[in-house]
Amino acid sequence: MRLWGRARAVRRRMLCLWLLLLALALVTLTLSDRLYRDQNHQKAPRPPRRPLQRVPSPPDLEVIVDSRDPALELDVGLSPLTSLQEDQLLFVPSTQGSKNPPQRKGSYKVLLPGANRDTTVPAPLTHGEMGKAVRLKLEGLERDMELSAVQKYGFNEVVSERISLHRRLPEARHPACSGEQYSESLPSASIVICFHDEAWSTLLRTVHSVLDTVPRQHLREVLLVDDLSQHGHLKSVLSEYVAHLDGVRLIRSTKRLGVGGCRSLGAARAAGEVLVFMDSHCECHSGWLEPLLERVAQDRTRVVSPIMDVIDWQTFQYNATQWPVRGVFDWRLDFHWESNPRLLEKEPDSAVQPVRSPALGGGVLAIDRHFFQSVGAYDPGMLLWGAEQIELSIRVWSCGGSMEVVPCSHVAHLDRHHLPYRLPDQELLQKNKIRIADTWMDAYRKIFYRRDTLAHFIRQSESPNITERLRLKKNLGCRNFHWFLTTVFPELYIPQDRPALSGELYNVGTGSCADFPRGQGLQGGAMNIAPCSGTGNQHCDLNSMGEVRWGPMGALCFDAKGERVVLSPCPAHQPTNSKLQWKFIKLSGQLVHLQSQLCVEAVKEGGLPQSDGGQGGEVNTPTSERGLFLRSCTHHPRQQWHFEQLVAPKGA
Ligand code: UDP
Ligand code: MN
Repeated sequence: MRLWGRARAVRRRMLCLWLLLLALALVTLTLSDRLYRDQNHQKAPRPPRRPLQRVPSPPDLEVIVDSRDPALELDVGLSPLTSLQEDQLLFVPSTQGSKNPPQRKGSYKVLLPGANRDTTVPAPLTHGEMGKAVRLKLEGLERDMELSAVQKYGFNEVVSERISLHRRLPEARHPACSGEQYSESLPSASIVICFHDEAWSTLLRTVHSVLDTVPRQHLREVLLVDDLSQHGHLKSVLSEYVAHLDGVRLIRSTKRLGVGGCRSLGAARAAGEVLVFMDSHCECHSGWLEPLLERVAQDRTRVVSPIMDVIDWQTFQYNATQWPVRGVFDWRLDFHWESNPRLLEKEPDSAVQPVRSPALGGGVLAIDRHFFQSVGAYDPGMLLWGAEQIELSIRVWSCGGSMEVVPCSHVAHLDRHHLPYRLPDQELLQKNKIRIADTWMDAYRKIFYRRDTLAHFIRQSESPNITERLRLKKNLGCRNFHWFLTTVFPELYIPQDRPALSGELYNVGTGSCADFPRGQGLQGGAMNIAPCSGTGNQHCDLNSMGEVRWGPMGALCFDAKGERVVLSPCPAHQPTNSKLQWKFIKLSGQLVHLQSQLCVEAVKEGGLPQSDGGQGGEVNTPTSERGLFLRSCTHHPRQQWHFEQLVAPKGA
């Protein structure tokens, strides 16, 4: 009995102990859960992360929570960084293009889920049929993938994915470049690469190409600046990848800054003596950096660019650009590279000698860090994208600096089919151009507004806030636009835009305007007629030399070829050749070709041939063609013209 009683007491004590332990465990659990939830309440909820297969070392990642200059910010209503859905990505090890860090430390290829998922159930096939069907299916899938890649990125990312991240470009430099010597003690460079939703392959190829071509002693850092990208592959995977690349840093902005703002942010964080801004889809030639650094080291106010070769957006084929080349802009404030191979015949030295350039493109640009800051960085008032390189160019020249293209330096840029991001505002580019016109162009800005009437009308309803920039201009003692035109860019034709002798050339008989279809090339082609656009892109200017100047550059002139009116490059000096001279008779509205004394007539499709047309034994043009023809002068409405002024010469 006693034994039984003792055993019962022991069992009861054991039970109590168990109960006590259980209660303790429960209390601990509840407390830790509360604590965990409290902690997490303070943070934004995070999507569950897929575990990666290796434990990375802490990435060299600096997240900039607030950009320091509030003027740099641009609220375009994008969701914040935390909205990214990293859990929607699959990470698989990639063997592609793997050299140094990627192979050694593991690299990733990012697959978007559902990109090539097929849900249809195929019918049973014979062996031969199966091979063919599978091939066709695969080809179809590939086409679909390529199409959607082009839509997403503005280039064929499927092709880009197949190309090594370390591809070497063929030699493009002039043989004389190999004899060039560069100083041993060049300044250090920070390569600043801003990106917004760039594709993985092109971004990483840019980074590797810099690392593969720049000698370590010249490279202070590669600074990647994420301009609030939304694509998941640019988030933690990129941070981890970059953490394993020596000399590469990544910073992120939580505000969408746009090209100029993002570059200014990168510049503020960069440590190198020379800043090299580079687009996030470039490939460098070996030896590209030294010639640039050398020129900047010799004169810290010099801003330089390599020759920009072209990567095809469809095939990723590399195309070398013909030199000498320089950057220019037109009266619509659009930028162009201008290649002038004939200069080489006259000046053989131009194969290796830097070419002074009125403007430089944004693709790659090297500038002394202190000079960049002192000249006013990028204009913080410029929105997201467009014309920021023209603003910088005019400012650098006008405020004491200079620009040039260095021919022994080549970098290839991917010329996209379209921008991969949507601009939140249709008029954004015009607004940037308005800032340039009002800040820098003085009275010459009217020439711009006549050729971009959308900008003119926007400007009439709102003025840009350029007070700060005008103050900067004054403080720096910058020169005026007349100086720029006469000293830096004397080749740019200055339109006269005389009242009633400039504007859209309106034809009374057809109710259409003289037009030159885009894509006919810069060397000219046949003039046509089209509905009047009202945008300013059909603007022409009959000047006091009798030339009818066409196009935003004013570099193409009305010319006669047989009985057709065509465009030809305008002569550099006053035309002595009356073939290029015209007279406008205001009373009758006739536009007369001086040499032939024939009148310009607009012909629509199916227009009747004139028996007396085409004097001088020239071949008659088939009647099915439309365009501007030279015919014997009559008073037919199709020979009556007037210059429609969209923007009054004295306005805006
Ligand atoms: N970019 C950016 N933020 C933007 C738009 C563009 O950082 O809001 C980057 C873009 O990724 C590229 C560079 O700025 O590296 C220049 O833009 P883009 O290549 O689209 O200009 P393009 O070469 O077409 O003139
Ligand atoms: Mn670009």
